[in-house]
Amino acid sequence: MHDSRMNLNSLFTAAVDDYNPGMKGATLANYVELKSFIKDDQGKIIGAMCVDKMDPEGKEFAVKAKNVVNCAGVHADDIRKMDKPDVEERIVPSRGTHLIFKKGMLTTENNGIIIPATSDGRLLFIINYFGHPMVGTTDVLTDMTHNCEPSQDEIDFIIKELKPYFGDDYDYKGNLLSAWAGLRPLVKADTNVVEVDRSDFSIKDKAADFLKRKVRWLAMKLHSGKKNGSASISRNHAIEVSENGLISLMGGKWTSFRSQGEETIDRILKEYPDRFKDSVKHTTGQTLNFNLIGSYSRAQLRDGFIQNSTAVFQQYEDFLVFEHKVPRDIAKHLIRQYGTASLRVVEIGKIRNNLNRLHEDYPFIESEVLYSMQSEMAVKPNDIICRRVPVSFID
Ligand SMILES: Cc1cc2nc3c(=O)[nH]c(=O)nc-3n(C[C@H](O)[C@H](O)[C@H](O)COP(=O)(O)OP(=O)(O)OC[C@H]3O[C@@H](n4cnc5c(N)ncnc54)[C@H](O)[C@@H]3O)c2cc1C
Repeated sequence: MHDSRMNLNSLFTAAVDDYNPGMKGATLANYVELKSFIKDDQGKIIGAMCVDKMDPEGKEFAVKAKNVVNCAGVHADDIRKMDKPDVEERIVPSRGTHLIFKKGMLTTENNGIIIPATSDGRLLFIINYFGHPMVGTTDVLTDMTHNCEPSQDEIDFIIKELKPYFGDDYDYKGNLLSAWAGLRPLVKADTNVVEVDRSDFSIKDKAADFLKRKVRWLAMKLHSGKKNGSASISRNHAIEVSENGLISLMGGKWTSFRSQGEETIDRILKEYPDRFKDSVKHTTGQTLNFNLIGSYSRAQLRDGFIQNSTAVFQQYEDFLVFEHKVPRDIAKHLIRQYGTASLRVVEIGKIRNNLNRLHEDYPFIESEVLYSMQSEMAVKPNDIICRRVPVSFID
């Protein structure tokens, strides 16, 4: 489970022309900041002024757009204010802290534990993160900040909640490798209505939509804790269309990002049918059953032959071990992270002679760093050690 890798794979899949027949690849940009909107005479948004953060002169440039979608997470209100300065804020930042412990807390790497009711009535997960037990999380209302750090109280809270299960003798502080925190972009409870017109849904769509809403309801119940804490704020998402045409997708969960994206596209197609009638042939989002880069075999690509993915990945893993002499744990790691694209990481490593481990305790290898710079738009050291090869989170 590596959330930023899933994010990267989604982005790089989106960028491929004709990945699905007729698909127009997206243009991706890293270190580009939105500064303001370009508006027409009526005040409608027709583009944005942006700045390349890596350009020493910091010159702004214009990007014209039929639609602008604000999915700036916890910063979504800043973008909404660029459109309408007095708009009511909707984002409620909630800090969540995770702890990573040394191996050995769980009996095997495939185990996970859910503690269903902490003393503040929440859930606590212990799951495997790159072979290490990751425990989380807290849910604390907080101010917006660009440097989010865990508080000692949160670290102590998590350790206190583990004690009934792992005993007083376990050396929690000595086995703690890292602690980190992030801000959830929650949306205020009274404004989180997603307006979806279900009147023209087919019976199949209605059933799928019903199931989706039930799952969301259950997730919300599971995450709800004390009445007045941030845990009681909905984890649903909201799609808002401003009078100037800014579409803001706010809140929600990582788990439901595809469904959120699909709803947003459907909303745009519904609000502005004339804008796309000559350029888009679909009338609804196409994300269901959409394979990401690295998740399919060449046989599937070439002949349409769909194999069981576990078997495909096992074959690729064996290929790396026997053909390229990659140690088994590294092969497993590469397949898990890059899927079938792991061959490219190894090929680069062979050309540059850098298939060595970055550290003896971990399966990360040097060529991953090169690959992330050549093929994954990594620019600064943090891009690599936090988002591509996430050693900084582990240890
Ligand atoms: C501790 C914690 C635990 C969580 N656990 C779970 C979980 O178990 N399951 C789950 O499904 N979800 C979980 N979440 C929630 C999940 O991480 C978020 O819902 C998700 O990341 C939101 O994605 P997003 O793309 O909307 O926002 P973000 O991931 O915040 O992305 C917004 C992006 O917009 C960029 N941006 C902002 N302003 C500008 C600007 N002016 N110009 C250009 N770019 C800009 C930011 O740099 C950022 O890259 C958790 C969150 C936290 C913090």
